[in-house]
Amino acid sequence: MRDPRYDVLFEPVPLGPVTARNRFFQVPHCNGMGHRDPTAHAVMRGVKAEGGWAVVCTEEVDFHPDSDTGGYIEGRLWDDADIPMHERLVDQVHAHRSLAGIEFVHNGMASANLYGRIPPAGPSHLPVKTYEPIQARAMTLDDIADLRRRHRAAVRRALTAGYDLVYVYAAHNLSTLQHFLSPRANHRDDAYGGTLANRARLLREVLEDTREECDGRAAVACRLAIDELHGAEGIQRGDMDALFELIGELPDVWDVMVGVWEDDSLPSRFGYEAWTEQHFRGIKELTSKPVVGIGWLTSPDTMVRLVQSGVLDLIGAARPSIADPFLPLKVEEGRLDDIRECIGCNICVTGDWTMTPIRCTQNPSMGEEWRRDWHPERFRPRASDAKVLVVGGGPAGLEAAMALGKRGYEVTLAEATRDLGGRVLHEARLPGLAAWIRVVDYRRGQLAKLANVEIALESEVSADEVREYGFDHVAIATGSRWRADGIGRRHTRPLPIEGVDVLTPDDLFAGARPAGDRVVLYDDDHYYLGGALAELLASDGRQVTLVTPAPLVSEWSVNTMEQPRIHKRLVEAGVELLTAHDVVGVGGGEARLADTFTGRERVIPVDSLVLVTARVPNDELARELGVTAVGDALAPGTIASAVWDGRRYAEELDLPPRGDALPFRREVVKLA
Ligand code: ADP
Ligand code: SF4
Repeated sequence: MRDPRYDVLFEPVPLGPVTARNRFFQVPHCNGMGHRDPTAHAVMRGVKAEGGWAVVCTEEVDFHPDSDTGGYIEGRLWDDADIPMHERLVDQVHAHRSLAGIEFVHNGMASANLYGRIPPAGPSHLPVKTYEPIQARAMTLDDIADLRRRHRAAVRRALTAGYDLVYVYAAHNLSTLQHFLSPRANHRDDAYGGTLANRARLLREVLEDTREECDGRAAVACRLAIDELHGAEGIQRGDMDALFELIGELPDVWDVMVGVWEDDSLPSRFGYEAWTEQHFRGIKELTSKPVVGIGWLTSPDTMVRLVQSGVLDLIGAARPSIADPFLPLKVEEGRLDDIRECIGCNICVTGDWTMTPIRCTQNPSMGEEWRRDWHPERFRPRASDAKVLVVGGGPAGLEAAMALGKRGYEVTLAEATRDLGGRVLHEARLPGLAAWIRVVDYRRGQLAKLANVEIALESEVSADEVREYGFDHVAIATGSRWRADGIGRRHTRPLPIEGVDVLTPDDLFAGARPAGDRVVLYDDDHYYLGGALAELLASDGRQVTLVTPAPLVSEWSVNTMEQPRIHKRLVEAGVELLTAHDVVGVGGGEARLADTFTGRERVIPVDSLVLVTARVPNDELARELGVTAVGDALAPGTIASAVWDGRRYAEELDLPPRGDALPFRREVVKLA
C-alpha cells in the first residue's frame, strides 16, 4: 500500500493533448544501443514503462545525415526506412500505458559528421567542439530553411511511429538550436543573431513548426539549457525571464537543465541529490506549462518536496530509472526498501562513450533485457532442487546469492569477515564515494527477505570444508588482491624496488599508512582508485606525487565524465600530478621515473610507494575444488562487472551447456 505522503507523485499531469499518468518522467538518455540494437533498445524502454514511468523517452535522435551524432550509437530517424524500429519502441512503451517521447537533435557544431562526411554547420564559422580538425560553417538562410523543413519531416515520421511527445532540443551544448541561442556560438549579424529575440528566433520557429505538425496529436516538449554555466559569455539563468516571455507558452512541457552532460549527470563523487534545485527555482513562475527537471533524484521524499514547493511538476530521471526501472511502482506499492538506488558512479554513461550497450552497477539487467532475457525484477524459477553455496559476500557473491534466492534455490552465502560488502565496504569510505555503499545496502536488504538464503558471517571456508558440506553447486566469489610488485599494463615483470615501504590499496584499506611524508602513488589502473587514494593520503598531510603512464590522471574516468573534476580535486588537494611518466625503479630513497614518450629519466625523493597497478584473483579455492569463480575471483574488473557476473552465474545455473552457440541474441541488419 502506498504511503499517502507520496500521493502527489501519482497525480496525472496534462501535457497539452496527452496526459502523463503520474509525475515520473524518464527524460531522454543515451544507451549505446540506439539504431544498432533497436529491439534491445525498445525492450529496455518497455521495461521502464512497465516499472511505472509515465513518460519514457528515447535518446537524442538525429534526423538527417547533414548532422550525425559523431559515430556514437544514438537514435536515428532519417527517412521512412527508420520508422519501424521506432514503432517497436513505441509499442513496448504503450503496452504499459505510458507515453513515448522522442528527442530530435541537430548536433551542428557539436559533431564533426564523421559518418556522413557532410561539413557540419552552425550559427557561425567555428571549430567543432571536439578536437577533430574540422570547422562548422555558418548556416545560410537556405540552410536554416532546410533544417526547419527536415525537422518538420522528422516530426511527421515520429507521429507515424506513434510517439506521444516530441522534443525540440536546445540543451547540453549538443544542439544547433542552443548554439543559435548562445552568445558563445552565435556571432551572426542577421535576423538570427545579436539580440536575445534574434538568437531565439530559430528555436521559436522550430517550436512553432513542431506545434503545427503535431496539431494536437502529440505533446511538444522543449529541453533547454537554462544556464550554460559560462557566466555572461553564455546563456544565463538571468536571461530566462526575457526568453520565456518570447517562447514560454510554445511547448506543452518544459524540460530544463544546466551546463553540459557532465553537469547534468553529475557523479555522486562531486555532487548531491537535487543540486539543480538552486537553478530550477522560479522557472515554473515563468510559464503556465508543466516543468520537468533532473538532479540525481533517487529519494521519493525529495521528489515530493520538489513538487510541493513548486520547483517541478514532473520528476525527471535518467540514472535513477536505469538503476531501478521499477522505482515508481515500488513507491506506489509502498515498497520503498526495495528501491535499488542509483549510486551515481556513471558506469551507465560509459555505454554511450564506448559505443556499447548500456550497463549499470546497480542494475545488471540494464541492456540485457532482450539480449539475455534478464529482467530487473523477475527471475526465471529454479530448474532443480539443487543447494548452492556462494563463497564471498562482495558485490559478485551478494548478487549471485540474491538472484539465486529469487530464483528459488536454497542458498548459503559464506563470508569470511563480519560484514557483507567485500571491496565496496572499503571503497565507499574513500573521499566522495559514500553513495557506493548502496550496492551493499540494496542486496543486504533483499537477502534479508529471502527465507531460502542463509548468510554465514565470519565463515572463512576451506576446500575440505566445502567438500564436506555436500552442496550441489559452489560459486567462488572471493574477490581479488592488489599486486605489490608493480606488474600491470605497463610492466609485465616485477619492478626493481628496494629500501622503501611499498603499500597496495589493500594495505591502505586495512588501515596501514605510508612511512614518511613523501609518497609516490603509481597509478597504472587508470580508473578512480588511484586518484581517490591520492586524495585520501593528501588529506592525511602527505606530500603525494601521482605518477601515471597515461596522458591524463584517472584516464578511464573520461568515460564516466569524472576525469576533469578528479584532476581539479587532486590539484586542489595539493597532489602533484606527473602524467605520461612511468616508475621504472625505486631504491636509495629515490624513485626513478621515465617520460613515456621520450624515455628521458629523472629521479624524485620518496619514502613510500603506493602501487595501484593490477590485481590477482583469489581463485585458489575455485581451482582446488574445480568449480566456477565469479566476479573479481574470475577476472578482476569494476564493481559493475562483478555484479553482472554474479547475476550471470545465477541466470545460467541449471541451463544446458551452450557450447559454441552465441551467449546472447543479436539483431543482424538485412542486406541491401
Ligand atoms: P567481488 O568484487 O568479486 O564481489 P570482493 O573482493 O568485493 O569480490 O569480495 C570478496 C569477498 O569474499 C570478501 O568479502 C572476502 O572477505 C570474501 N572471502 C574471500 N575468501 C573467502 C573464503 N575462503 N571464505 C569466505 N569468504 C571469503
Ligand atoms: Fe546509477 Fe551507476 Fe547505475 Fe548509472 S551505472 S544508473 S550512475 S548506479
